[in-house]
Amino acid sequence: MQDSMAKTVAVIGAGASGLTALKCCLDEGLQPRCFERGDDIGGLWRFQENDTDGQASIYKSLTINTSKEMMSYSDFPIPEDFPNYMHHSKVMEYFRMYAKHFDLLKYIRFKATVCQVKKCPDFAITGQWEVVTEMYGKQQSAIFDAVLVCTGHHIDPYLPLDSFPGIEKFKGKIIHSREYKHPEKFRDQRLLVIGLGNSGADISVDLSHVTKQVFLSTRTGTWVVNRVSDDGYPLDVIHFTRFKNLLRHMLPTALVNLWGEKKLNTRFNHENYGIKPQHRFLSRYPIAADDLPNAIIAGRVLMKPNVKEFTERGVVFEDGSREENVDVVIFATGYSYSFPFIENGVIKTRNNHIPLYKFVFPPHLEKPTLAIIGLLQPLGAIMPVSELQARWATRVFKGLITLPSKDEMMADIMKKMKYNEKRYVPSQHISLQVQYVDHVDELAFLAGVKPNLLRLFLTDPRLAWEVFFGPCSAMQFRLMGPGKWEGARNAILTQRERIVKATKTRALPSYADSATATWDPSLFIKVLGCLAVLAAIFAYL
Ligand code: NAP
Repeated sequence: MQDSMAKTVAVIGAGASGLTALKCCLDEGLQPRCFERGDDIGGLWRFQENDTDGQASIYKSLTINTSKEMMSYSDFPIPEDFPNYMHHSKVMEYFRMYAKHFDLLKYIRFKATVCQVKKCPDFAITGQWEVVTEMYGKQQSAIFDAVLVCTGHHIDPYLPLDSFPGIEKFKGKIIHSREYKHPEKFRDQRLLVIGLGNSGADISVDLSHVTKQVFLSTRTGTWVVNRVSDDGYPLDVIHFTRFKNLLRHMLPTALVNLWGEKKLNTRFNHENYGIKPQHRFLSRYPIAADDLPNAIIAGRVLMKPNVKEFTERGVVFEDGSREENVDVVIFATGYSYSFPFIENGVIKTRNNHIPLYKFVFPPHLEKPTLAIIGLLQPLGAIMPVSELQARWATRVFKGLITLPSKDEMMADIMKKMKYNEKRYVPSQHISLQVQYVDHVDELAFLAGVKPNLLRLFLTDPRLAWEVFFGPCSAMQFRLMGPGKWEGARNAILTQRERIVKATKTRALPSYADSATATWDPSLFIKVLGCLAVLAAIFAYL
């Protein structure tokens, strides 16, 4: 039952962040109303044949690059028979199950475009917002106690045509990756894809099966990781653990760089494949492009440096090489972001950087009643991050958690910005980058849901072992504190079964298992690591 005095919250967007934000409002006894511009949930993940203005857009072949255990919301594990890396249609299926299970649909107004969010005249006292929406050509206005902005940052294409001399002469077709849907349209053509991000790599490989030739141009190169990691487990399951995060903090950066580069070059030598970046392994996020080396070794994709200039039918690259008869150029150059519906002055943008406290709260508001959810680029899944942000924000709205002073928030923002500038090479979204385990732990601490490892080791060593050495999945943030979920322990202890269940669809007779069983030396290392951590904790106490 809704409390009639409960605070009202406008949730803008019903995608990966909006759905969980809506649920967090309900968990906290708030009264949410969600406005979704489209006619369905899912945001970016809802594939549409046609590119729709103002909405995010994906291609038909898109498969997510974060695994199901790492992307699931904290109290709703993804079913064991779902693949570890899901096609967008499966991601949508999961969202539908989540929305149905928590009965979220009745709070969503579809086809409702938010035109304006502005402070009420007495904002300094009430913290209220006026939200103007448009449905079927008719505008409506309503007052809310708080606003959660969940519109994502993959809507406005970034198309840097000015940086490409001669582009105005080019007679072929020019599109942004946002418009790309299927390869068929480009059958037997010669294409140039610009930008080696995840979109550029995915689209090049997708196209390469039907086109005459794909050229993939990169200014910087990149490190390429594979979704399938050690023992066939998903990459993020293997590497995003508290144990490895601790090691990353303890070991010299140069050593981690050497280890990472050696491992990636062992699969394929990045230099020989024309992909090797100028930067070190940890200085920029790698891309997940399992099939790119296969397409390069088969000659279907040819790597090229930055474009020097375009001609009428072709392109000259910075190394002096040229390609003629290029039919189509696809700019896979990423996205810009903005919040045009929010009253001027509420969100202050500086060089594509929006200063937000912990990537969520504008620091200069008189009342902390507006939060941006999902505006960051973790090397990892966004869903658990958005969920933690929303759990924290809703408790701030309720007055259960107080934010620091404006000066303290600004100092924190600047510290993070300086860290990123030092740590990463310059890029369009440098300010949005965060280290996954560190960041979720920071948010969980703020929301009061960070697991107490020492207590866990003393009371439930089996669970503590999995929490420390296993994947840092969102279920860990339901073990204690507000929003504790009784099913969390079991969900964590069965995560490996769910992972394997999805791939082991042909069970072998039992003799085959024993024939391949070997001693696992990593167990020894883990026991040593565990003892070292316990010793460090006790020494600290
Ligand atoms: P992105 O990550 O921003 O990459 C854009 C690339 O464009 C840059 O890496 C850069 O590549 C190039 N570029 C940028 N400015 C340029 C300029 N002025 N001139 C030439 N090249 C320029 O964009 P995205 O690949 O579209 O990805 C957007 C987000 O969606 C990311 O978070 C990504 O992880 C995600 N995504 C996920 C999947 C998946 O899950 N399967 C698929 C696609 C995208 P160079 O430095 O190489 O030139």
